[in-house]
Amino acid sequence: MTERFTGSFTQQEPIPEAGVEAALRVLRHGRLHRYNTVPGEIAEAALLEEEFAAFTGARYCLAVASGGYALGCALRALGIGPGDRVLTNAFTLAPVPGAVAAVGAAPVFVETTEALTIDFDDLAAKAAGAKALLLSHMRGHICDMDRLMAVCDAAGLPVVEDCAHTMGAAWRGVPSGRHGRMGCYSTQTYKHMNSGEGGLIVSDDPDLMARAILLSGSYMLYGRHRAAPPPEAFERVKYLTPNVSGRMDNLRAAILRPQLADLPRQCARWNALYRVLEAGLADTPGLRLIARPEAEAYVASSFQFLLPGWPAGKVRALLSRAAARGIELKWFGAAEPAGFTSRHDSWRYAPAQSLPRTDRILAGLIDMRLPLTFSEADASCIARILHAEVGAVFQSDTETADNPVAD
Ligand SMILES: *Cc1c(COP(=O)(O)O)cnc(C)c1O
Repeated sequence: MTERFTGSFTQQEPIPEAGVEAALRVLRHGRLHRYNTVPGEIAEAALLEEEFAAFTGARYCLAVASGGYALGCALRALGIGPGDRVLTNAFTLAPVPGAVAAVGAAPVFVETTEALTIDFDDLAAKAAGAKALLLSHMRGHICDMDRLMAVCDAAGLPVVEDCAHTMGAAWRGVPSGRHGRMGCYSTQTYKHMNSGEGGLIVSDDPDLMARAILLSGSYMLYGRHRAAPPPEAFERVKYLTPNVSGRMDNLRAAILRPQLADLPRQCARWNALYRVLEAGLADTPGLRLIARPEAEAYVASSFQFLLPGWPAGKVRALLSRAAARGIELKWFGAAEPAGFTSRHDSWRYAPAQSLPRTDRILAGLIDMRLPLTFSEADASCIARILHAEVGAVFQSDTETADNPVAD
């Protein structure tokens, strides 16, 4: 009998009971707005910021409405605006170039390596004239951060880190988000903590963080923050910084605090699933695993592999055969944007750019979500099916999805 996987690739775990109870307390007292506190009360949002600052080792933290808002807010805090050029990864998700466009700047895409990270040669070549690098740790793959910072420091390029897929990860022991001037995280449902929507920003820079807090819509109530710079930092910029409303509320913060306390354990569970898949796919003809450097402490909430040199028809045949056996694969090389996967050439508000190395990688790049509702037995079932289907399609004469090989 043909083995079929029946799990859902989009099903999260429930919010932990402690989060449900904390949410109910907020709902019962009704003070959902972060600045609506009674004397002596510390808002859930302020507590979350304090705890996330401690988790990352940052001096300051700000909770905001989404990960995309965090990116835009960080760029604005850096003074980036209309006409500026901002470098970013060509392999990323739409909210990243979207955040650059949101401040009126132009995204300039940097090529991608086989490790799915930013290409340092292309980065160095494009650094002149750029105002910042918005570095996306796309799908949790972290580039050599020591080299990256050396290249950017030499070029005088401030770095903002998009850590939507690296919350809880580290490079050589330094938490992801702590190399650049600001680190941005998402707490949207498909990320490492789930509040439906939400974002966090960390930084050690008092002026940047004062601006970010004012930008997020603090109505001069910044004194109610805890993981925030001293009042002098706000005095310097409070008349000059527009309110671009994007706060996090106490309900989301209440849901997130117990999840943050549990994050290291969750990260270990993701990585256990990843290792089962990696081992199960190690010797699959036609498939290349992504090398993970020793210095990278990753959090594998998703899984990627390469099908180097495969024609599009064979990739499509694999996708449909995997789907028929219950496995939802995403292809970053598809011409049309579908769901969360889109290619740089579909972001047409940005100037068209030639990125042959990225295009070659994306043409064979397959992606799969790994929700924590999967067990290690599920991961090994997925690996068995993929091993068989990748091998079968690779060795077949299939060239188009319209002409699938017989079983
Ligand atoms: C999800 C995501 C974001 C944006 O987060 P939202 O909270 O959905 O706005 C940014 N970058 C990457 C790589 C993401 O996957």
